[in-house]
Amino acid sequence: VTTPLSDLEIANKATMQPIGDIAKAAGIPEDALELYGKYKAKIDVTQLKNQTADAKVVLVTAINPTPAGEGKSTVTVGLADALHQLNQKVVVALREPSLGPVMGIKGGATGGGYAQVVPMDEINLHFTGDLHAITTANNALAALIDNHIHRGNELNIDPRRILWKRVLDMNDRSLRNVIVGLGGPAQGVPREDGFDITVASEIMAIFCLATDYVDLKKRLGEIVIGYTYEREPVLVRDLKVEGALTLLLKDAFKPNLVQTLEGTPAIIHGGPFANIAHGCNSVQATQTARKLADVVVTEAGFGADLGAEKFMDIKAVQAGFKPNAVVIVATARALKMHGGVDKKELKVANPEAIAAGMQNLAKHVETVRAFGVEPIVALNRFITDTQEELDVILNWGTENGVKIALTNVWEQGGAGGLELAQAVLDVLATDNHFKPIYDLEDSVENKVRAIVQKVYGGADVTFAETAKKQLADIERFGWSNLPICMAKTQYSLTDQPKLLGRPEGFTITVREVIPKLGAKFLVCLTGDIMTMPGLPKEPAALRMDIDENGNAVGLF
Ligand code: ADP
Repeated sequence: VTTPLSDLEIANKATMQPIGDIAKAAGIPEDALELYGKYKAKIDVTQLKNQTADAKVVLVTAINPTPAGEGKSTVTVGLADALHQLNQKVVVALREPSLGPVMGIKGGATGGGYAQVVPMDEINLHFTGDLHAITTANNALAALIDNHIHRGNELNIDPRRILWKRVLDMNDRSLRNVIVGLGGPAQGVPREDGFDITVASEIMAIFCLATDYVDLKKRLGEIVIGYTYEREPVLVRDLKVEGALTLLLKDAFKPNLVQTLEGTPAIIHGGPFANIAHGCNSVQATQTARKLADVVVTEAGFGADLGAEKFMDIKAVQAGFKPNAVVIVATARALKMHGGVDKKELKVANPEAIAAGMQNLAKHVETVRAFGVEPIVALNRFITDTQEELDVILNWGTENGVKIALTNVWEQGGAGGLELAQAVLDVLATDNHFKPIYDLEDSVENKVRAIVQKVYGGADVTFAETAKKQLADIERFGWSNLPICMAKTQYSLTDQPKLLGRPEGFTITVREVIPKLGAKFLVCLTGDIMTMPGLPKEPAALRMDIDENGNAVGLF
């Protein structure tokens, strides 16, 4: 038995095309292309004014993730390559990796096997610097707030009620809670502060939802940074720094162009967390891709309960397009875990456990249908899966009228995704009745209830005392008609990470409701949601190295 090549080894063997050739084939005019080396470029979208964003949108989502892995990015890239092989004009639009997870848990954000985007090491490391620009804009705001207080605090900001935190693109638990301004009068005003990871910053969410520079600046101005001693909100525009923050994002805001291993154009831009934020790549990226192609394949973070719900209710609504098809990625291994099997026992064939775990997939199929879209399931095949196990899943699809396409893109690239691609094209040929799950004008309580009942399959929602007080303020300030961004564990349909499968009759508790006026959503915090992750016992960093020629080694 030969050991399969690692993702990096496969990526390094690839012969990439000069990015100018990819751009030309995608119809990007030379004036719109800003080269970042040979294989990466930014797209100046102001040069694409005459093109309309009218391509159909295919969203790739998944069942609730398990440590067994689902391969959502892998299937997203492989599906785009398969559509490319079927002579479709296709662009894949992905999220940018964050260095926190890259250094922490094994697994990048560039797909895997023969379905990857390249140059994979550069994309996973610093890429074109977008995350650094977002970090800088975020921390410039933090510095400006502290300086304002140090210089006399004209706005009367209560230092104990500042919501704005500093960020870093790293998993660094020691920075979750810090005290700043120590050392006497010349060092500022001491106060409790903390760090989040960059991808949890509201600036990342804004960056991904803004439609152009004007919208970007307006949204940055709307950020609520904290409250005054009289408990009135203080916005970035009260500090008059939204212009400076937008300027810091000037180049980062342009979408990045790269390619898949098969030369399909890929736009990778923005990457907010899918638990605390909305988990989709930028509207700029998706809309640029829609100008260039006939079909755009994109993904949203975690399972359909988080990523797809927010894609449908937040991103699609704010950007003004409708998702034309939805692919739900599932694996036999993950379904086995939803059926009660421990991670250590995954290698043992267990069709009974898979049959029990099918309920998790069934719920996500129902959810996508609740949005008015007919889903296609991509069964992402692992070489260790037995035919008997795969048959349990395929037969379930036949018996329940759900289209399931066995997908082998990890091993074969686009050629392994042709059945899936054809199934997607069949759905794209028909119209759908997409509609969001709730009405924006409804009360916050009812909007959350709709998500809990129609998307999670739960009984009801309760609001803790703190959340109730915050809701009263939200009502008072007139912010109630914003969409909801649920912050919930990705592992379960409930707010308890250990409850796998398809739990029923449960209640979700909202601990806090946090206004994100720039992103234009209200974050509802449930359970313990981490905004600054920590590194695991054996960080991926331990395997990484560089050779004498400057090539990356051991990066997945
Ligand atoms: P997700 O987007 O769901 O987090 P990824 O697509 O990033 O998952 O894949 C995570 C890891 O799993 C990658 O290293 C990838 O190579 C691996 N992987 C995905 N699909 C398969 C498969 N069918 N067989 C083996 N490994 C796979």
